[in-house]
Amino acid sequence: MPLELVTIPCLADNYAYLIHDADTGQTAVIDVPEVGPILAALDAHQWRLTDILITHHHDDHIQGVEPLRARTGAMVLGAAADAHRLPRLDLALTEADSFSIGHDFARVIDVPGHTLGHIAFHFPDSRLAFTADSLMAGGCGRLFEGTARQMHASLQKLAALPPDTLICSGHEYTTSNLRFAATLEPDNPHLISRIADVAAKRAQGIPTVPVPLQTELDTNPYLRAHLPALKTAIGLPDADDVMVFAEIRARKDKF
Ligand code: ZN
Ligand code: FE
Repeated sequence: MPLELVTIPCLADNYAYLIHDADTGQTAVIDVPEVGPILAALDAHQWRLTDILITHHHDDHIQGVEPLRARTGAMVLGAAADAHRLPRLDLALTEADSFSIGHDFARVIDVPGHTLGHIAFHFPDSRLAFTADSLMAGGCGRLFEGTARQMHASLQKLAALPPDTLICSGHEYTTSNLRFAATLEPDNPHLISRIADVAAKRAQGIPTVPVPLQTELDTNPYLRAHLPALKTAIGLPDADDVMVFAEIRARKDKF
């Protein structure tokens, strides 16, 4: 049985996620922007929290960790590399480490770029990947600590996951991400239909996450920097993929 997934809007535009194994009852939350909505979701499902998984050190992803640990007694897992600036870790993770949630297991992927210690969690059997502020719906996180080369390599690792993997990212930035993408590929039919789909969802207050990786491969410009048409569109037909990626990221920062 795949893990059950619940998407929880938090703060102004953050997302936390619950995953639950019905057989064992083990339940994890990915990131804790705030405690209230997560406790409410646990309560609504009658689930008991066992694990708290942290993607990176920014306040809007960890500020509820200590109060949630105090309320639930859950174990806290996060990147060993960032242990000095994360809440106290019960399990410090490095790349390719794995741990289980119920009958499923997660593999840790290093995805530096937004921050240096950012990690993603891939659950291959449940076809889920929690990418927070690395690969985002229609975009990627800003380069606060890492280089364009690092973020490009991180996104390449995620792009290589099975295309039916559901990408669970950290924010509701999809509308503006896709508006920017359309400046680069105005005629991309996948992008045109995704923009319409996202507008309809947002009009009803529905989250635009999670998203199948295939949709990102078809529309997310940061996963498309290798395409000759995109290179030409930004005036860099002969540049390498990293240079094109860096130019796209720089343009978005000014968008
Ligand atoms: Zn962040
Ligand atoms: Fe964030």
